Amino acid sequence: MEKLVIIGNGPAGCTAAIYAARAGLEPIIFTGDVPGGLLTQTSAVENFPGFPDGINGFDLVNSMQTQAEKFGARIGYDEVIKVEFNTGNSCHRLTLDSDEIIETQALIIATGATPRYLNVPGEDRLKGNGVSACATCDGAFYKNVPVVVAGGGDSAMEEAIYLTRFASQVHLIHRRNELRASLIMAERARKNPKITFHLNAVIQEIQGKDQVEAVKIFHNDSETTETIPCNAVFAALGHEPCSKIFKAAGVETDAQGYIVLKNNTSHTNIPGVFAAGDCSDPHYRQAITSAGSGAKAAIDAEKYLSNANL
Ligand code: NDP
Repeated sequence: MEKLVIIGNGPAGCTAAIYAARAGLEPIIFTGDVPGGLLTQTSAVENFPGFPDGINGFDLVNSMQTQAEKFGARIGYDEVIKVEFNTGNSCHRLTLDSDEIIETQALIIATGATPRYLNVPGEDRLKGNGVSACATCDGAFYKNVPVVVAGGGDSAMEEAIYLTRFASQVHLIHRRNELRASLIMAERARKNPKITFHLNAVIQEIQGKDQVEAVKIFHNDSETTETIPCNAVFAALGHEPCSKIFKAAGVETDAQGYIVLKNNTSHTNIPGVFAAGDCSDPHYRQAITSAGSGAKAAIDAEKYLSNANL
């Protein structure tokens, strides 16, 4: 029987593991199918305190994990595919994708969030053949050709700017007239001569036989359609919390699927089950706030384990 299992090894999970390991809880972290989480897909992280020159997202998470392992945290590269709470003996039961069953007294859910897509014709079929949600991963494949970025938030600005390193032109397509992005990011994108903004325009279809060849967009103002030739479409539409299996087992979530926390703590509605990071944070979703919430979850779990009659 484990004392504490942490699911997810992004900033929230790794920070929880550092705190829990130092508290002697010998945590095991299960990484799931995207080890390190979304931060590993970002290029430079410029707003994590302590790194005045910025740090690569992968290096940041990797060093957090190394720090956790240094204090005795163990890493399992499996995915947890099913959870059952309070299965007797005050423990929770996890099923891994290898069919192995793990029992634990406490659980921290730090599973993060997954990219949102457009859900338009052509998108699913062309995923991996021009449709992507990660410019850092796939941008370099599109040298000297036009590409599209969908979305109007900070991610869309960041991805569009990043893609100008490779693409001949970046079409940024956003469904409203106003951008959601912060002023500073929007200004940076606007100043870049390679980025063309198409505001108040909706992508209706992604076209192409085996590879993306164009997008069909609808201009809300003029009520006209336009076909923009491009070789890739990058969805930068925000994320959805990875909470499905926990919700199915009884963890309370809000309408968007974010895990509901009790009274500014990391407690969920299930005793001994805690949550941290993007899976429970609809507002901030920053590496630093995720790390902070991971520390809170480990402290709450430690208190729970020392008070509970286990
Ligand atoms: P956001 O939720 O902020 O933005 C998502 C964008 O996608 C919105 O413009 C939204 O449109 C659009 N969108 C969502 N669904 C659809 C759809 N089905 N069809 C068309 N458009 C859609 O997500 P981000 O990933 O951009 O940012 C998340 C958080 O991370 C934010 O807090 C952001 O500040 C932060 N961040 C910070 C960065 C930095 O500072 N360097 C870099 C990246 C992210 P609408 O506006 O109409 O809702």
